[in-house]
Amino acid sequence: MNNVPVDPLLKEIASHFIKQGKPVYLVGGAVRDLLLGKKAADWDLASGAKPEEVMSMFRRVIPTGIKHGTVTILYKDVSVEVTAFRAESAYTDGRRPDRVEYVSSIEEDLSRRDFTMNALAAELPSGRLVDPFGGKKDIKDRIIRCVGRPAERFSEDGLRPMRALRFASQLGFSVEGETLDAIPDALGITAKVSPERIRDEFEKIVASGKPSTALLLMEKTGLLELLFPDLAQCRPVEQKGCHRYDVLGHSLLACDFAARKAYSRTVRLAALFHDLGKRAALRIDPDGNRTFYQHEKESVRLTRNILRRYRYPNAVIDAVAHLVGEHMFHYTEDWGDAAVRRFIIRAGEGNLDELFQLRFADAFGTTGAEPAADFLLPLAGRVEEILSKNRAFSLKDLAVSGKDLIASGIKPGKHMGIILNELLEAVLDDPELNNREKLLEIAEKINRRY
Ligand code: ATP
Ligand code: MG
Repeated sequence: MNNVPVDPLLKEIASHFIKQGKPVYLVGGAVRDLLLGKKAADWDLASGAKPEEVMSMFRRVIPTGIKHGTVTILYKDVSVEVTAFRAESAYTDGRRPDRVEYVSSIEEDLSRRDFTMNALAAELPSGRLVDPFGGKKDIKDRIIRCVGRPAERFSEDGLRPMRALRFASQLGFSVEGETLDAIPDALGITAKVSPERIRDEFEKIVASGKPSTALLLMEKTGLLELLFPDLAQCRPVEQKGCHRYDVLGHSLLACDFAARKAYSRTVRLAALFHDLGKRAALRIDPDGNRTFYQHEKESVRLTRNILRRYRYPNAVIDAVAHLVGEHMFHYTEDWGDAAVRRFIIRAGEGNLDELFQLRFADAFGTTGAEPAADFLLPLAGRVEEILSKNRAFSLKDLAVSGKDLIASGIKPGKHMGIILNELLEAVLDDPELNNREKLLEIAEKINRRY
């Protein structure tokens, strides 16, 4: 088959180009996905029309990347990116090309693209394939291979090695030998790529069905040591005891589990990073036992450093760090209600599902076997029971406020906060105390100590 099926809406869009005598092609991931029998995620077009010409052909066009020759057409209910045929000539330091040079043919445009599977075009409206680099065969054989000489292509843009491995995780393809072998020599170029661009590829790895595919190839090629050294250095940290795997092996299994269960990005990142601190926390006692006492504190610090370095939003950093910091709870049947309440407060009611998911992933990473379905049920049951009773859980739920304390004659000042927290502690131990009269009585007693 040398044609791919073309969506009627795409044919309609193409007709506007053809009317003006401008060739237009579907390119990139959309063609790859069609050949894989998948529905394309989004449509990218390449055209002989310049951005200004495209802007005059359609009513609604946004100049999204005019400097790179790209505009976005809004047509009916879709948005389509159109880029003029172009070459990428001048690169500085493995970063993005700093000047765009237009070319006249689709073949020239395809030759600047990274991998053969991405260097295919489907002519519109016919769907006829343009495949100068054997992309169709590589897709069939499930191979990721550079267009041209890998060393040269990686030296032009140091992000490409990460892209290759990202696609390996997303598509389950293997990376062709020469392409893979060229990665270690290009590490110096990758080192200069902006953290935002690295993060975008890392995000896609973590969002994929099997992050370990890319992460293991990153380890093998030196990319992991370069970009995530704290993670790479978990490899030699052996655990023994109930663990079957070293810390990196364990973390990759936990992250894969989270991906397989379609858990959120927060849980996936926490699964990957939750044991980063074990290397520093490792102690070997006289009997040769390994302990990692309080490693989660160091894990939190390292997780924050990594996510900050890659410019994650603060809300994401806080959410992941929180899960990492709380992953070590040890429930036993003798926990009283107060202990369960304290656990809920520490974790935060809204984070409990994700914290339990992280523990499932952690358990899987320990043994390599699916944890029993009722693994966390006893604690989850207790939590539900306590929550359903809807007892006081934070300062704002107390039956008295700072204002009430002042009204009752307690002087405002810094010990006011201390008193309120002591009241909360009392209510956690005994929810029956959460009424105005009792609390004011206790507050009065505490106040006498000051
Ligand atoms: P998806 O969008 O599904 O992740 P994609 O193949 O569309 O996959 P994009 O990052 O959207 O990937 O890029 C679109 C196309 O642009 C690619 O298919 C490739 O042809 C080209 N391309 C993107 N980035 C580069 C790069 N760094 N070097 C060379 N070509 C690139
Ligand atoms: Mg795309």
